[in-house]
Amino acid sequence: MSQQYVLPPAPVASLPVTGSDARFPVHRIYCVGRNYAEHAKEMGFTGREAPFFFLKPADTVLPVAEGQTADMPYPALTENLHHEIELVVAIGQGGKNIPVEQALQHVWGYAVGLDMTRRDLQGEMKRQGRPWCIGKGFDFSAPIGAITPAAQAGDVAKAAIWLQVNGADRQRSNVDQLIWNMAETIAILSQAWELQPGDLIMTGTPEGVGAVVRGDVLEGGVEGLAPIRVRMV
Ligand code: MN
Repeated sequence: MSQQYVLPPAPVASLPVTGSDARFPVHRIYCVGRNYAEHAKEMGFTGREAPFFFLKPADTVLPVAEGQTADMPYPALTENLHHEIELVVAIGQGGKNIPVEQALQHVWGYAVGLDMTRRDLQGEMKRQGRPWCIGKGFDFSAPIGAITPAAQAGDVAKAAIWLQVNGADRQRSNVDQLIWNMAETIAILSQAWELQPGDLIMTGTPEGVGAVVRGDVLEGGVEGLAPIRVRMV
C-alpha cells in the first residue's frame, strides 16, 4: 500500500526540456549574489568578494514553455519590481565538496531565467540586516525557460546574455563576465550544501537591472538556449 498523507502532497515543481516531453523536476533553487562586476558596481559594491548565496523555494518557479509567453502576476507589497536576467545551471548529478575540475560533469543542462526581485523590500531588509526572503523568494519570482541538455547547449561559458523590455535593450553582457564561473560556483556551493539532482543554480545577473510594471513584456536570452518571454499582469 502506498504512503497515505493527511493532506494532498504538493505537486512537483518542474521545467520543460527542449526536444522532449519529459520534464526536469526542480529540487532547490540556489542563487548567486553580485556575480558580475558591473552589476556589483551598480548595486554600490566593488571588487571580487567571496561568492554568497540565497535560495528561492522550488515552487516559486514559473515555467516558460518554448515559443510561449508566460504571465507573471505583479507581486504584492512592492512598488519597485526589478528584472535580473540570469543563466540557470541545472544539476543532474549531486555531490558535496565537488572539485572545480569535475564540477561541469554534474551539470544536466542550462536555461534562461529571471531572478525577479522586490528591490524596495530587499533594500529595506539589507538596511536592517535581515534576511532577503521577502525580496527574493516570493511566489512566481523565478520565471525559467526550457532546459537545454548540456551536450546541445554549445559554449555557454562564452555566450551572450540579454534582456529586452517591450523590445528595448535593458541588459546585455556575456557569460564570460561572471566573477565566479559556473565550475567555481558549483564547487563552492557544494561545500555548503550537498547538491542534489534537480537543483537549479541562478548564476547572477549582469548590469542594467531595472523596474517593470504591469503590461510590460520581458524577452530574455542566452545564446544557444531557448529564450524566454514573460508578460507582467
Ligand atoms: Mn540575481
